[in-house]
Amino acid sequence: MSSVNDALENARFTYEQHMNTCRQCRADAAPCAVAKHLLRLYNLARRDAMRAAGPDAPTV
Ligand SMILES: [Zn+2]
Repeated sequence: MSSVNDALENARFTYEQHMNTCRQCRADAAPCAVAKHLLRLYNLARRDAMRAAGPDAPTV
């Protein structure tokens, strides 16, 4: 389970790092293609973490 959380933390960290450093994301209100990709990975990791937490865990 810790590996799932590590993946989630890593995905979130990578996404936040991008949002903090990407000029395009800062210039536009909309995320760039890379940000969308990273956000998708983050959402997938979060879904895996939810699933690992148990079938009764609330899904967002
Ligand atoms: Zn970006």
